[in-house]
Amino acid sequence: MSAVARRGSPTGGGCPGCGARSSSVESAARLRAELAVRWLVREAGELVVRGFCRGCVPSGPVSEVVCAYCGDGPLLAGALADADPTADSAVGGWLVAQGWALDPVMTCPPCRQVFGRARSS
Ligand SMILES: [Zn+2]
Ligand SMILES: [Zn+2]
Repeated sequence: MSAVARRGSPTGGGCPGCGARSSSVESAARLRAELAVRWLVREAGELVVRGFCRGCVPSGPVSEVVCAYCGDGPLLAGALADADPTADSAVGGWLVAQGWALDPVMTCPPCRQVFGRARSS
């Protein structure tokens, strides 16, 4: 008689790219981990962050933006993989807009908060 509480479904559930959904708890965890990886891709001239499942990850060259403190950062796919984040105005501009610091070292927004003015003089 009691309604079944369905709070177990993972946030997002499926891949936004192909709509793939997991059929088991294990694959749900894996899919969620895959989708948690942020890819910076160019769409209609704009840089956007996407999460992809294993079947949807962009093919071709991949590079990575790496925070000097925590090692985190989005992956750069396709044409962006060739870009030097600190030199490419599109990628660098996107990172700065997200709160990254590019100088003196690549620093992600959370680490900027933790380390404050990392710049020492
Ligand atoms: Zn997918
Ligand atoms: Zn960081």
